[in-house]
Amino acid sequence: MREEKRLKIAIQKSGRLADMSIQLLEKCGISLAKSRDQLLCRAQNFPLDIFLVRDDDIPAFLATDVCQLGILGENGLLEKQALGNGKFAGLRQLLPLGYGRCRLSIAVPHDFDYQSIDSLNGKVIATSYKGLLAQYLADHKIDADIVTMEGAVEVAPRTHLADVICDLVSTGSTLVSNGLVEKDIILQSQAVLVTNQIDDPEIAALAEKVTSRIKAVLRAENSRYIMLNSPIDSLEAIKAVLPGSQSPTVMPLQGRDDMVAVHAVCEEGVFWDTMEDLKANGANSILVVPIEKMLD
Ligand code: ATP
Ligand code: ZN
Repeated sequence: MREEKRLKIAIQKSGRLADMSIQLLEKCGISLAKSRDQLLCRAQNFPLDIFLVRDDDIPAFLATDVCQLGILGENGLLEKQALGNGKFAGLRQLLPLGYGRCRLSIAVPHDFDYQSIDSLNGKVIATSYKGLLAQYLADHKIDADIVTMEGAVEVAPRTHLADVICDLVSTGSTLVSNGLVEKDIILQSQAVLVTNQIDDPEIAALAEKVTSRIKAVLRAENSRYIMLNSPIDSLEAIKAVLPGSQSPTVMPLQGRDDMVAVHAVCEEGVFWDTMEDLKANGANSILVVPIEKMLD
């Protein structure tokens, strides 16, 4: 019997993206074998093998076709592409995934006189993102020295290794506790689904299936199902307030000829002020519920 072809995806083994990446696959109905200690984990109910690796290695797994899909921070991918001498040029971002959000920023000590990016001329900048930083400096015609550090970049100014830093920031609390102030954002990043050229049509079809399941999960997560009762007279006003909904279902309400029930899928955030707007337009019994799955 011919062996079943299996798609291979690389995700971070442990770290900031690991849990969310596993959860995303699980939400796509792909259940993983329990042990996450090994490099390779076979999905139980889908022809998919999951490689649990360091995020830095994921571009190489894709470029060498060991894996056909990967999840990593856009910052990590772009840095490899900036440094890789074309080795990673063929890697393509398929989808932003909405987690692992951070930014690559220039931060300076409190007492550093920062007027504009030009203030970095002649300075020493510590970073783990030499490729992206060098590109940014070249784009802005800044002549500065780059010191590459693997970690603990934020201590570089205090230890006089560098004047300023270029590092990933999410909440900014690490900067604050090291007496640094964020000045310039080089890149906004989040986790992304990445692929390489896939030649085998069966593997390409599996990759397409996983990608469309991920899209459906993300869409459902951003969508809500709204139910409300509306006076017939204000139906148009209420439809106009419903965020990102195409064509709501309108149904009669038993025993009421002045009111109708309105059900709609809203693909944008439904916030308290949306609900208050609906109410101000005469809606009542407003219910907002999450959607578990959605496929057109
Ligand atoms: P690995 O052991 O896999 O090499 P790592 O230490 O390089 O892990 P993490 O710190 O887990 O990596 O970060 C992984 C990714 O998470 C980053 O590349 C970035 O895309 C994202 N991220 C989100 N917020 C932050 C943050 N505040 N600091 C660093 N990375 C962040
Ligand atoms: Zn890493």
